[in-house]
Amino acid sequence: MRLAAFDPEGATKVTPDARFGALLPLGGEVLDLAKALAIEGGAPEPRSFLEWFDAEGDRWRRVRDVFGRLSADDRAVESLRRAGAVMDLSAVRLLAPVPRPGKVVCIGLNYRDHARESGMAIPERPVVFSKFTTSVIGPERPVVVPAISAQVDYEAELAVVIGRWARRVPKESALEYVLGYTNFNDVSARDLQFADQQWQRGKSCDTFGPMGPYLVTADEVKDPHRLGIRLRLNGQTMQDSNTDQLIFGVGELVAFLSESITLEPGDVIATGTPPGVGFARKPPVFLKPGDVMEVEIEGLGVLRNPVSGEPR
Ligand code: ZN
Repeated sequence: MRLAAFDPEGATKVTPDARFGALLPLGGEVLDLAKALAIEGGAPEPRSFLEWFDAEGDRWRRVRDVFGRLSADDRAVESLRRAGAVMDLSAVRLLAPVPRPGKVVCIGLNYRDHARESGMAIPERPVVFSKFTTSVIGPERPVVVPAISAQVDYEAELAVVIGRWARRVPKESALEYVLGYTNFNDVSARDLQFADQQWQRGKSCDTFGPMGPYLVTADEVKDPHRLGIRLRLNGQTMQDSNTDQLIFGVGELVAFLSESITLEPGDVIATGTPPGVGFARKPPVFLKPGDVMEVEIEGLGVLRNPVSGEPR
């Protein structure tokens, strides 16, 4: 399934009223899962949005049931459409699939080809840092270059969304804790990042966490370690690699993190970026208002975000 968070009011509303849905297989429409479950008998709406990502409960079994039936039954889709539970994608605004995760854990220097390019040693254990979750934005929303930075950069990354509470899980079973995958752009203000002792501020500016356009459930991603990953800036390919270059794979990361940190449903792990980022180029390339970034990972769609500025 391709899962998406959306605001049914469309693009005009400032504060999103997030709903959760599944894209219908033919495309162009989204099934409002809370409405569909209410109509199809049975599951109450989650008390908090993050509960949608809890794959352990009964809710996901029901969601898969309802979705499976709809895929084979046009009349059922039509009746849900009439009940307002199926909406045209053009009538909604997609948000980040996890609009406000509990945490966004980032991994640094995790691509072999990137380490080689930077002349850095392969790290012995994952380099872990975080982004404040208020930086997360959805597809098509502008990334705003803050007035205090002149060196804002892009980083295409495969993001992992957690679907079960994970604490001290072994590497061998760690993938069972993953709900799915989505595109992520770890936007970074290099001047702030390198001026501070910590990366937190330069990684966490408002709008610096574009995610989406949807979350593809793990059962539909055959091998997360064999996906083409690229980033285009104004149509020009700047990053072009494959997740087979990951030093620490998804299972290793979940196992490593869960040794000391409980991973919760809806937590996001951004797994690191391949070579080609702007600051490492000669001459360096930084984002400016009017630019358009597209992150595209095989099978996960395209995450497109324009860049805008704020008055200095
Ligand atoms: Zn990164």
